[in-house]
Order: sequence, then structure tokens, then C-alpha cells
Amino acid sequence: MTTDKLYDMYLKHPVISTDTRRITPGSLFFALKGDKFDANTFAAQAIAAGAAYAVIDNAQYKVGEEYILVDDVLTALQDLARYHRKQLQIPVVGLTGTNGKTTTKELINAVLSQHFKTQATQGNLNNHIGVPLTILTIDSTHQAAVIEMGANHQKEIEFLSSIANPSLGLITNVGKAHLEGFGGVEGVKKGKGELYDYLAARHHEGSVVFVNSDDATLMQMAASRSFKHAIYYGTQNKDNLISGRLIENSPHLILEWWQRGSTIKHTVKSQLTGVYNLDNILAAIAIGTHLGLTPAEICKGIEGYQPKNNRSQIVQTATNTLICDYYNANPSSMAVAIDNIDKITADKKVLILGDMFEMGDEAATEHKAIIEKALSINAETIFVGKEFYQQAPQPLKAGAFYKTTEDAISALQANPVKNATVLIKGSRGMALEKLVELF
Ligand code: ATP
Ligand code: MG
Repeated sequence: MTTDKLYDMYLKHPVISTDTRRITPGSLFFALKGDKFDANTFAAQAIAAGAAYAVIDNAQYKVGEEYILVDDVLTALQDLARYHRKQLQIPVVGLTGTNGKTTTKELINAVLSQHFKTQATQGNLNNHIGVPLTILTIDSTHQAAVIEMGANHQKEIEFLSSIANPSLGLITNVGKAHLEGFGGVEGVKKGKGELYDYLAARHHEGSVVFVNSDDATLMQMAASRSFKHAIYYGTQNKDNLISGRLIENSPHLILEWWQRGSTIKHTVKSQLTGVYNLDNILAAIAIGTHLGLTPAEICKGIEGYQPKNNRSQIVQTATNTLICDYYNANPSSMAVAIDNIDKITADKKVLILGDMFEMGDEAATEHKAIIEKALSINAETIFVGKEFYQQAPQPLKAGAFYKTTEDAISALQANPVKNATVLIKGSRGMALEKLVELF
């Protein structure tokens, strides 16, 4: 079936289902292949559960009119999303970057939703399936959308951009993550830069790129392309549309920001911690300002945003203040998290740092560098995981090293931490959330 025919069907049945355990009656079921299953085999179940049609790519399962045969289900879904996006005349913000995508996406959405009916990526659904599914949740009542695009290899952002077709875009930063898939930091620059390439190609009359002017790498990447419209934000550049300054980090961030040419300064108390979140907040302010929101709307959006899912989330327990940041970790985000706790005013600080995954050949060097950095600040440090364990300095002068999260739990049970500000950060697979109840 051709995309425009499928599109007619989608307009009548605009909800997409991909999981037979959660079928919306009247929806279009896309039988996507998983690692371990072929959803063609579930198509009948989807129809029985109330799906209007099942899109399949194996003729064997076409047992009625409600089964739509395509060459490839995933491609059909992506083509449908690309086609749908072309019909939408709304600003779509596309963002990628090594760190801070979800946080920035949520902040932009929090700001824009003060003024527009918005749609945004749910959680972290930022890949070749999540992006099309998100696009297909946008309907004619939405006035703006914010789409997170993730990547761990070349050409992925180019492809996701071709679906999301962003009119406004930003790269949060370019750092050390997924080094295996990208082929080193230069590879990450190239891969993330595909969003800049897309915006420079001016698919929209009003394409705008938003660039953090404090970030030398992004500035250099932006300078090497020719944009019709670039907007800068940051702490010090005179060309910034939006500039800001940190006032307090204790551990909630308080900042002030102002617009170019204005003497009025706006103060915002955010629910976030982490100096690095200043960049994420300023990005949201710049986009809100560009789309015509008032400073009051922008401030309200930022102040109301509560981080979720353990991304720089502040948790106050009876005895400690926790900075729960164990959603993920890589050398760049580890480094900024350590710098952040170093700058926070607190009598006693504890770092619990878990291994960073997907580091390829760089694993040993990068874990060693983080050990040195963590031990150089005024804090007690506990390293968890076999990568850190292998790099422990010999003889051990400071810091404690545990091979597994379970070993760290036993140690903390024997020696509980009290009256401290505690940073907990590591890769998702380290499951550091298991430690939280010990504080
Ligand atoms: P993913 O690749 O998993 O989708 P992401 O890019 O969406 O990650 P977030 O989930 O927003 O990133 O944040 C993950 C962690 O990255 C945060 O908890 C924080 O430690 C760190 N981080 C957030 N913003 C920045 C930033 N601007 N610079 C460096 N590190 C950041
Ligand atoms: Mg994310």
C-alpha cells in the first residue's frame, strides 16, 4: 500500500498501537519486529483486541480486509510520519546532543505549553521508532511540537530529521558518549552536526538554529555552516538573544536572564540542580522568546518544571540531601556533575559514582580520569563497578572502591552516611537506585 493511501486510513484512525497488550480500540496496529519476536504473528490478536487495521509485512498473515500488507512495517511507519509532518504547519523544535536532551526537551515543552497547545516526545522515545510515533501523535489542534532525537551512530540524526522535519533546532552539546558507535569524539561531532546540516539546508522558510554561545565546539560547528537565521544564547556573548547568569546553586538553581537590548532582568528559581542545567534553561528561554512568549510565561514554565526519572533530581531524606542523577552517565556528564557538587555550599559531600558503559577502547582512560577528578574535590568518594575497581590507584590513599552495586550496599549499610549532600551517578545498568533507601 502506498503512503498516501495509508495516510487516508490514518486520518480516520489517528491512534497508532504497536503493543498488543495496549491496543486502543479503533487504532492502527503496526506489527514491528522486535529482537525476539515478529509482531506479524500478533496481528490477529491486535484485531481481536479492537484495532481497526493491522499493518503487516508477511503475506502469510493477511487473512482479511483489515490486514494491510506493506513491504516493511517499520519503513511504512516512518514514511507515514514523514508524510504527516509535511502536512503540519506548526513550529517543530528538533533537538539532539550528547547530554541534556530530555531535560531541555521537557523545559522547552514546559515553556511553550504556557502559550501553545504542544506535543512533545514522551520520556526518552527518541529513536527510529519513537520519533515517528511521536510525530503521529500530533494532531490539527497542536500549535507546536518538541521532538528529541537520539543517536549512537552516523546518519541517524540525518534520518530522524528527515522524519521530524524540524523548523527550529538545537544541539545541547557534543561530548563523550557512544564513542564505540560514533568512532570517537570527532565522529560524535559529525553525527550530531547532521541536525545543523538539515537546518542549514533550509527546508523551511523560517528555519532557525539555536546555538549555545558558551560552547566553543558548537560555535565552531555552527560557523562552518551557513544558516539563514541563527539565534545565540549563553552567559556572555554580546550577540546573544538571551543571556543569563547563575545567582545561586544550593542545590536548586536560581538564575537571572535578560533579552538583548533590554535592561530588565528576570529572576527564576528552578527545581533543577546542576550548573550545566543553566544551558538547558537558557535554550528553553531563547526558543520561548523567539516564538513570542512573554517573560512571565517563560518564567512560569521554567519554575514549574520538576525533573523526573532521576535526571538531576533533588531528593531530601530525613538525614541527607540527595542529587539523584543515576539515569545515565558518560565522561562529559560525570565531569559536570562533579564540578557541580564541588561548587555547592554544603558542610559534608559524598560522591557515589558508578561505572560508565559503552566506552569502547576509552574505558580505562576515561574511568581513570574521573577517579582523579573526583578525588581532587573536597568530598568523600565511593566508586562502584568493575571498571572503576580496575583503575583504583595503588596504593589506595583515598576513596573506596566496590566491584558491584551489592558490595557498595553492604558497605553503606555498615557505615551509613548522615547529614551530607550526596551525588549518586552512574550508567543505567549499574542500578544505583538500589542505594537510595540507604540514605
Ligand atoms: P539520553 O541520551 O539517555 O536520552 P539525554 O541527552 O536525554 O540522555 P538527560 O536525560 O536530559 O539527557 O540528562 C541525563 C544526564 O545528563 C543528567 O542527569 C545530567 O547528569 C546530564 N546533563 C544534563 N544536561 C547536561 C548538559 N547541558 N551538559 C552536560 N551534562 C548534562
Ligand atoms: Mg533523553
